[in-house]
Amino acid sequence: MARTNVNYEKLSTSYLFVDIARRKKAFEKDHPGVTILSLGIGDTTEPIPPSVIEGLTLGVRNLSNVATYKGYGDEQGDARLREAIARSYAQRGVSMDADEVFVSDGAKSDSANIQSIFAQESVVAVQDPAYPVYVDSNVIAGRTGAATGTTYDGIVYLPCNERNNFFPSLPAKKVDLIYLCSPNNPTGAVATKEQLSAFVRYARERRAVIIFDAAYSAFISDPALPRSIYEVDGAKECAIEINSFSKSSGFTGVRLAWSIVPKTLAAEDAAAGRLHAMWHRRQTTMFNGASRISQEGGLAALSERGIAENKAVTGYYMENARLIRECLVRKGLRVFGGVNAPYLWVKTPGAMGSWEFFDKMLSETHVVVTPGAGMGPSGEGYIRISAFGHRSAIEEAVRNIDAGLVL
Ligand SMILES: *Cc1c(COP(=O)(O)O)cnc(C)c1O
Repeated sequence: MARTNVNYEKLSTSYLFVDIARRKKAFEKDHPGVTILSLGIGDTTEPIPPSVIEGLTLGVRNLSNVATYKGYGDEQGDARLREAIARSYAQRGVSMDADEVFVSDGAKSDSANIQSIFAQESVVAVQDPAYPVYVDSNVIAGRTGAATGTTYDGIVYLPCNERNNFFPSLPAKKVDLIYLCSPNNPTGAVATKEQLSAFVRYARERRAVIIFDAAYSAFISDPALPRSIYEVDGAKECAIEINSFSKSSGFTGVRLAWSIVPKTLAAEDAAAGRLHAMWHRRQTTMFNGASRISQEGGLAALSERGIAENKAVTGYYMENARLIRECLVRKGLRVFGGVNAPYLWVKTPGAMGSWEFFDKMLSETHVVVTPGAGMGPSGEGYIRISAFGHRSAIEEAVRNIDAGLVL
């Protein structure tokens, strides 16, 4: 008799973006003809630049000819791409072997799967608010109790708020796995080298492991801010880094990412090399490699021309962020992020709740945002605004907010 994984029953039933879509639909039904502008979703909108399209096209063309056709590749990724990724770190002064790079089909899947190489009884700490995958994957794996309100028993939530500039203090109790994301989704905060150093020191002293999500590193323009946790000395002994072509290269629908599992990474019962070997085993057992087409595109994205062309696209989104930020500041709202990250984190006016402000924005400005409360208890009292979008839609949203938002 087959039985189910009962951990799925612990997952809170209402999914944030389903709730948002439901409220948006209800508003559209009551206000036919109104144009709703979505600044709620973290998805790219601008086309992939020409040099990267050439790479993707080469990937397709190679499949059309018997001389260049290839089937399965290495599960860990095309050696040329792994080397190109390793070289991109070298430019920031971080050295690694190409075989410490594991190419994958997504940072979402890697950040969900990585917990599987750690002990069942690991104590998990997450930034609060956070990208939901870190917690949900550990719920499904059985590392938590039931949901109580907006949190799960057994997870250590590290609050990020105005008092700590949206970067958490070190955990007060011993934890084993720590998920950090910088530049942060949803707060748009970027960790400084000193802030990351404190976590690296903590992890090394307690033999904990940091899982560092750097999916938005391409949006950092301040040269003083670290784009990789490995810019901090000692991080290669205690941190796994996950990154993606999704936001830097418009690959959300193409699918290509990577994880770095250093050979020097160690844990309480794992000498250097063991976790690297385990992730290698996990990927070669459960994954058959990213698409050859995507990987040709990834190689082109890491070429000099690809980097320059993609920089223009991330710059376009950051100009969106500037337009939205200035508008909200004009309105007298308190705005965080949006300078080295494509997200703005906005304090709701007065003591208004996230969902209440969501409804107010929708009815007065026809702009859909993301209620912060949906991304963790510390997100209550904030909304997230995404800078991804066509300029025309951003400009229309700004006009609507200027004219319609009553504060
Ligand atoms: C968008 C995003 C990713 C990227 O995930 P992919 O599966 O590579 O598209 C990873 N982490 C965070 C926090 C994100 O917002």
